[in-house]
Amino acid sequence: MPPVREALADAADRLRAVTDTPEFEAALLARHAWGWSRARLVLDAREPADTASLEPLIRRRLSAEPIAYILGRWEFFSIDLAVEAPLLVPRPETEHLVEAAIRHLGQRPARVLDLCTGTGCVAIAIARNAPVSGIVATDIHPVALRVAASNAAEYGIPLDVRPGDLFAALADGAAPFDVIVSNPPYVAETAWDTLAPDIRNFEDRGALLSGPDGLDCIRRIVRDAPLWLSPGGMLALEMGEEQGAVARALFTERGFRDVSIRQDLAGHDRVITGVWGAGA
Ligand code: GLN
Repeated sequence: MPPVREALADAADRLRAVTDTPEFEAALLARHAWGWSRARLVLDAREPADTASLEPLIRRRLSAEPIAYILGRWEFFSIDLAVEAPLLVPRPETEHLVEAAIRHLGQRPARVLDLCTGTGCVAIAIARNAPVSGIVATDIHPVALRVAASNAAEYGIPLDVRPGDLFAALADGAAPFDVIVSNPPYVAETAWDTLAPDIRNFEDRGALLSGPDGLDCIRRIVRDAPLWLSPGGMLALEMGEEQGAVARALFTERGFRDVSIRQDLAGHDRVITGVWGAGA
């Protein structure tokens, strides 16, 4: 058996074919395979490595399976969450959606709705960082409903998880929301072939694609959200980098005010927000 240090270097060399961060991922896979802490990986670098348990994980990753699925956990907004195929792996750009919601909420307890919640990452991150008096999350995927509920329970968040298609998941007469957020599917059907294999071959197609221009779901949310927003409530949506102009027009034509677009760290239009009605 090669020493740990050598096994890690070898794993990183092979992982270079599928990732820009091969050393980081090699260490994550080894720690997962062996149940080791980060410190032990350094301290025991000269010990013989159990390559037999590491090898199957490396092979999975080499098939382009997302590392979050292999580990079963992934960090979002500094929160460690369970992740399971085929749910969308929480992405760093979605943290801007959480930031927009938190900023709008400020200090007074508010009701929040998260549509297409997936792992529950957005709802949980908001509930952990803003005073929330009620938080509802919807999804149509049964795995999402289960994983979102268990992630919320792990952090003691009373997330009301509801099965259904967007607003159809809500009970008639449910109280209005101060913030509605969503990272809906927004990839154009024609762009399917351009997605990276770890997305295309593993993540739920229904969580990604949304009609010919990718805007079907966003259009429906913008149309119906005012029926569920309190006066001065905010709608915040993640969107594709080429959708900023069209999304702005949709928000404005629907009657939202203070429409604003934030860029992600790559400088791409990523999150659009708009406020409904007079304001408190
Ligand atoms: N940003 C994701 C991607 O490029 C898409 C996420 C989504 O459709 N909500 O794959």
